[in-house]
Amino acid sequence: MSGTGFKGVMAYSENHDLLLELLGVGRRLADKLGTELSAVLIGCGICEEKEKEAVKHSADNVYVVDDPRLEFFSVETYKPALLEAVKAGSPEVILIGGTKRGEELAPRVATALDAGCMTDCITLDIDVEKRLTGRRMTYGGSTLAEVVCLKKPQMATVPPKVFEKPTPLDRTGEVVPLKVDLPEPKVKVVERREKQQATFRIEDAPTVVGCGRGFKKKEDVKLLEELAGVLDAKVSCTRPLAADYHWMQEWIGLSGHKIRPKLYVAVGISGTIQHIAGIRDAQTIVAVNSDEEAPIFNTADYGVVGDLYKVIPALTKELKEKLGKYG
Ligand SMILES: Cc1cc2nc3c(=O)[nH]c(=O)nc-3n(C[C@H](O)[C@H](O)[C@H](O)COP(=O)(O)OP(=O)(O)OC[C@H]3O[C@@H](n4cnc5c(N)ncnc54)[C@H](O)[C@@H]3O)c2cc1C
Repeated sequence: MSGTGFKGVMAYSENHDLLLELLGVGRRLADKLGTELSAVLIGCGICEEKEKEAVKHSADNVYVVDDPRLEFFSVETYKPALLEAVKAGSPEVILIGGTKRGEELAPRVATALDAGCMTDCITLDIDVEKRLTGRRMTYGGSTLAEVVCLKKPQMATVPPKVFEKPTPLDRTGEVVPLKVDLPEPKVKVVERREKQQATFRIEDAPTVVGCGRGFKKKEDVKLLEELAGVLDAKVSCTRPLAADYHWMQEWIGLSGHKIRPKLYVAVGISGTIQHIAGIRDAQTIVAVNSDEEAPIFNTADYGVVGDLYKVIPALTKELKEKLGKYG
């Protein structure tokens, strides 16, 4: 235990994939601090497989809070559960997955610990004074803020798909079951209904084609679907097409999904900062827009200035021939 009484890096997310991503960055931070890395699992009937996976993905310790009252997420019960793990591990760094639930939980845990919390970090590091530092997007993604935690424990939330999962290794770690006194909930859930899920997660698609208001009517999106078929891509859109026109259910951007595909093709999209915030981590961005001054061209790696109604069918035809698809 260090002089301050805090040691180790702890990671928690109710989203298991995100937890493994946190363990990836957590391992790097723990190595820099010369300390241990732990994972926290909270829920009801937690399977041994998840514990093993956390260890394989770099956790030295896995704190498990398993209780029937933790079957469904509630900040009222998950906060004391996470605090119990913090009490057991006394971490100097706590990483929480920046899901909707994580963003609800993190500030409450920070308040209980009288700690600072850096939210939505897209980089994390340890500075020369051994403090946790991070970068986060501000002003709709147009600028980056550098932040540092001045007080321990140091906390940060991290959105999904920012860090890579570590390579799973055949390693050993300690599983620590914890018991916690959970409060009687002040809120009763009367009914739960399954949300209608999209059949795929756009975040998982290696290639995405996005349409914007350059498309004059819903039927025209078929042009893009044909291109998507040739590229094995998923189709998504800007916010107005989903939120205002209801052509699709979900959109990409600051208030929508943040994607990191290998290829993103933006068609009839102007490239406002709110949209760019969702695509800036794409490996390659191709834009098609009739206005050569459109801001999307500042972000795109390749640009075609032209009418999408001519460019997209021509591109689809050319790619079909080049890729030998559909005869
Ligand atoms: C709080 C807040 C959050 C927001 N969050 C998001 C978000 O998450 N995601 C998002 O996308 N937006 C978001 N927005 C909306 C955002 O500000 C823009 O309004 C939106 O991104 C613009 O969408 P667009 O590019 O489809 O439309 P427009 O800005 O109207 O652009 C249409 C483009 O199509 C081009 N075009 C027109 N005809 C053709 C043609 N025939 N061929 C080729 N090009 C053509 C035009 O030159 C133009 O550049 C948000 C706004 C607010 C206020």
